[in-house]
Amino acid sequence: MSNERTEIGSLGEFGLIEHLTKNIEIQNASTVLGVGDDAAVIDHFGKQTVISTDLLLEGVHFDLSYTPLKHLGYKSVIVNLSDIYAMNAVPTQITLSLGISNRFSVESLDEFYEGVYAACEKYDVDLIGGDTTSSQKGFIISVTALGEVAPDKFVKRSTAQKGDLLCVSGFLGSAYVGLLFLEREKKIFMESPGVQPDLEGETYVIGKLLKPEARKDVVEFFAKQEITPTAMMDISDGLSSEALHICRQSNLGCVIYEEKLPVADEMKKAAYKFEIDPTACALSGGEDYELLFTIPQSEYDKLVLNEDISVVGYMTEPEAGSHIITKGGSKHALTAQGWNHLK
Ligand code: ADP
Ligand code: MG
Repeated sequence: MSNERTEIGSLGEFGLIEHLTKNIEIQNASTVLGVGDDAAVIDHFGKQTVISTDLLLEGVHFDLSYTPLKHLGYKSVIVNLSDIYAMNAVPTQITLSLGISNRFSVESLDEFYEGVYAACEKYDVDLIGGDTTSSQKGFIISVTALGEVAPDKFVKRSTAQKGDLLCVSGFLGSAYVGLLFLEREKKIFMESPGVQPDLEGETYVIGKLLKPEARKDVVEFFAKQEITPTAMMDISDGLSSEALHICRQSNLGCVIYEEKLPVADEMKKAAYKFEIDPTACALSGGEDYELLFTIPQSEYDKLVLNEDISVVGYMTEPEAGSHIITKGGSKHALTAQGWNHLK
């Protein structure tokens, strides 16, 4: 990236949109008309359409002091695609709307869009439109994702069944520990700006926070194995909180086993540096964008074919409540913050 600075004003609104979108090459047959008109046109050829939207605000959802714009662009797309996969659907298009102040140059928006396009390319989705407006202060990002699913194959949160296995993909808690590192270094920097950040060795957890991926592979695995989860959602706010959503919406209880929680060794080591319990991070840390789902016990044999999926517990009758069984064998009620509050 050069050090040039082009003022947004020199391009004007239409010039800017044209600049940011001129290289789009349509990937999906369902994209009939993309950027450049009053609206985009999509045709899902008899499939059902899934739509999800998210608003990200500077200072609330992201901190530009330690988030590179390219990563932010990438993540803004990923968090929306994750919602589409969580419906057991395949994302096909996104729209992206921005509120920008003149603090940004065209070059910095180019960086942001580099991340956006990298995510679009990796996940085969088309950017088909958006809106651009000026913002007095913070950077505002709104992404809407569309996806397709075979009729009635979408998976809700409210349809888990008693006795179903409760499963998660990947590892939990890493992004939260990554955030702790970045927040710590920011604080040190604010107090003594000469000090260089010490993030050595923590690239795993920091990478999980700054550059998450959506679990496309898991949804493809379901299709290949002909598994349809009974309920599913993505984990943006932490396992405990999301498991309680499935319980409440399906009118069930659940049991989770601490020893079954998938935690990466890198996350454990990093958590110990902060003297916090890795289990608490796995239960309550957010932003992992893994999938949480339930499947009938009869599907267990197919499930074990995927090493990246862990069975963490099972669904019970609602009267039993929602609990975690610790490694020591004690039982605690699951709360939205987890059973052991983060220090
Ligand atoms: P309108 O006046 O109808 O809102 P705009 O001038 O805002 O139209 O947008 C023109 C075209 O550019 C539309 O296709 C719109 O979806 C697209 N667009 C606007 N802003 C963005 C953006 N930030 N990223 C991608 N496409 C955009
Ligand atoms: Mg507009």
